[in-house]
Amino acid sequence: MSEHHEVASKEKYGMVIDLDKCTGCGTCTVACLSENNHYVREDESDKLHSVTWMKVYKVTNGAPFPNTKVAFIPRPCMHCDHHTPCVSVCPVMATDYNPLTGIVSQIYTRCIGCRYCVGACPYHARYFNWWDPVWPEGMHKLLNPDMSPRMRGVVEKCSFCNHRQQKAKDKAYVEGRKELKDGEYVTACAEACPTGAITFGNMKDPESAVAKLIKSPGAFRLLEKLGTEPKVYYLSSESWIRELADNALGRKRTGGLA
Ligand code: SF4
Ligand code: SF4
Repeated sequence: MSEHHEVASKEKYGMVIDLDKCTGCGTCTVACLSENNHYVREDESDKLHSVTWMKVYKVTNGAPFPNTKVAFIPRPCMHCDHHTPCVSVCPVMATDYNPLTGIVSQIYTRCIGCRYCVGACPYHARYFNWWDPVWPEGMHKLLNPDMSPRMRGVVEKCSFCNHRQQKAKDKAYVEGRKELKDGEYVTACAEACPTGAITFGNMKDPESAVAKLIKSPGAFRLLEKLGTEPKVYYLSSESWIRELADNALGRKRTGGLA
């Protein structure tokens, strides 16, 4: 599906990451790896072949000492809402946009590993899995039973911990409710962040924390000019970060990725 996906649904999930609170500790990355059954390779220094759904970028304002400023930008999948680039190019519909939740999913058993989506994603949020997962003896006890490990030869990405939504809905159903309350479905990275920098929830619920934060004066998205309407928003009081986020095309750059 490649157009605006508006349907009569009360849910559309999004995330707000407050960069003024983010210390770059990497807890979100570790929580994501653990929640989603990522295996750890022998040589994780080879970043060309490693898989990290939640990646933390370090950026600077490019000014010499003592005026140097540093910030950290956690980057999950943006769950692009409009003309979702990865969905548009997949030849086998292994990735799809769910109009009921706004979540961009990945069906691993359907993926043929052609990697068109990897090339199409403007946020580098997709990863090709080069190896079958291997867990040392005993480590399998730590696997999350709600998440399937991926096999070699498929493309992976952040799912907004979609399995957590299904679990929360099952619980609500047992309690006789059809709708989730704010905070019942949160992602592993949001739950683990020690500074509370990550907020997750239903953007269509005007009372949700995420819906309120999106309206903050400092809210912005990465590469907004592309028109993919990411559902991951950032907050920052620093104008140089906001300028970097739009890639500063046509304007003077004041910083860069470090
Ligand atoms: S960020 Fe990349 S992988 Fe995620 S929905 Fe957008 S194009 Fe697809
Ligand atoms: S939402 Fe879930 S899958 Fe996505 S980066 Fe956060 S922990 Fe990982």
